[in-house]
Amino acid sequence: MVYNLQKLLKYPPYYTVQKSLIMVHQGYWRNQSLTISVKPNCLTISLGSQQVFSFDLAGRLWTALVNEVSYRRGLDGKVVAKWQTADKSRHRRWLSSEEADNLIQRAHTILNHLLQDLNSAQITLNPPLDAKGWQDLQTAASFDISTAHADALKYRQVYKPVGILPPDQYISVVLQATEGCSFNTCTFCDFYRGRPFRIKREDEFREHVRAVKTYLSEGLSLRRTIFLGDANALVVPMPRLVRLFEVVHEELDVEKLGGIFAFLDGFSGERKTAEDFALLARLGLKRVYIGMESGHEPLLRFLRKPGTPEDVLQAVRNIKAGGVAVGIIVLLGAGGKKYAEAHVRETIQLINAMPLDLEDLIYFSELIENENLPYVQSAYQSSLEPLSAEERIRQGEQIENALLFHPERGTPHISRYDIREFIY
Ligand code: SF4
Repeated sequence: MVYNLQKLLKYPPYYTVQKSLIMVHQGYWRNQSLTISVKPNCLTISLGSQQVFSFDLAGRLWTALVNEVSYRRGLDGKVVAKWQTADKSRHRRWLSSEEADNLIQRAHTILNHLLQDLNSAQITLNPPLDAKGWQDLQTAASFDISTAHADALKYRQVYKPVGILPPDQYISVVLQATEGCSFNTCTFCDFYRGRPFRIKREDEFREHVRAVKTYLSEGLSLRRTIFLGDANALVVPMPRLVRLFEVVHEELDVEKLGGIFAFLDGFSGERKTAEDFALLARLGLKRVYIGMESGHEPLLRFLRKPGTPEDVLQAVRNIKAGGVAVGIIVLLGAGGKKYAEAHVRETIQLINAMPLDLEDLIYFSELIENENLPYVQSAYQSSLEPLSAEERIRQGEQIENALLFHPERGTPHISRYDIREFIY
C-alpha cells in the first residue's frame, strides 16, 4: 500500500515524516501483529504493541520500545531509557554498556529471525516488501554489537565531544565549526571545561563536514536540521563565519535539511548587528539559542556568566530584526533562595522586553548541581540555600505566568530543558 503524505495529513493516523511516501506492510508473526514501516528516512518494525525498533537508513538502532520502556541510542553508542510509573511520574536512566549491548543484541536477533521467516515465505506481508523495504531491513538486521561498537568509535574520530544541544536539536547534523567555549567561565557549566576554544580553518572545517557526511552516510536522511557547534559558534567574526556558512552550503543541501541553528552564548568581543543576522539568515540561519540564564545582573556576576541583561536584550533585538528566530534559555534555581526573588522579577522584565513571537522558543533549564562544579563551591562559600526541586519548578511557573506577548505576534513555544537527557 502506498500512502500519499498530503492525504495522511488530512486523515488520521498522522504521519510527520516530511517526504512523500511511506510504505506500511502488515502481517502476523509469532502470534502477534507485525508492522514494517518503510519510510524515506528510517525503518520501523513493530511487534504487537510491546516491541518497536527504529533504525536510520545506515542501519543504526535509533529508538526502541520494549515492555513500555522507551530507549534512544545516541551516535556515541550511549542509550537512555525512559519510562512512566503508575503514579504518572517519569523516570530516566542511562544504560550501562552491557545493557546497551543487550538491547542491540535483542533487536539484531529479532530482525534476523524475521528476515529468515520472510525469506522462507513463512510470513505474508500485505503488501509484500519492495526492493527498498528488503534493502532497509537487511541493513538494519546487520547492525550487531560489533557494528555498533565500530560505529561509536568512528563517531569519536569524526567529532570532539558534543557538549550539549537544545532539546529540539537532538536530531540535527552537528557540524563543529568551532570547538569548546570561548568563555568557559560560568560556574554552573562544565560542558567544555578543560578544552581550549578554537575556530576551525576553512579547509579543516570542510574536511570535518565531509567526514560527518561519510560517517552518517544514509543515516543523514534522518537528520532534520544543521547545528553549527560548539558552544558559541556565532562569536566567529563575520568574514570567517560567512565563509564557514558557505562551506556548509557547498557540502550539504541546507534547505532540504531545514536550515542552520546555533548557540550564541556569553556576550563580549565582536557583536553582530541586525544586518549581520540578515546576511546569516540569507545563508540559512534559522534560530539562535541564547543562554540568558537570568535577567538579574548580580546573579549573572555570581554565576560568572559573561555579558549583561542589556547585552542579551540587544542581541535578541538584532537577531529578530535580521529575520532569525531565538531560543531563550532560563536557568531555574540559580543562586538559590538569596537570588530567587530578583531572579524571577528581572527575568520576567527582560523577557517581556524582547520582541518575541511564535517562531521563538523559551526553555526553562533546571540548575544541575554536581559536586565538580565551581558553582557548588561558591554557593557553599556564600552560604546559599538551594531551592528544592519543587521550588525550581514553581520558579519556572512564576516566570511563565507573568510573561506577556504581543497578541499579533503570537506566543513562543515554552518548554522544559533537562540537560541530563541530552543525546546526539
Ligand atoms: S558561555 Fe555557555 S558554554 Fe560557555 S561556559 Fe558559559 S554556559 Fe557554558
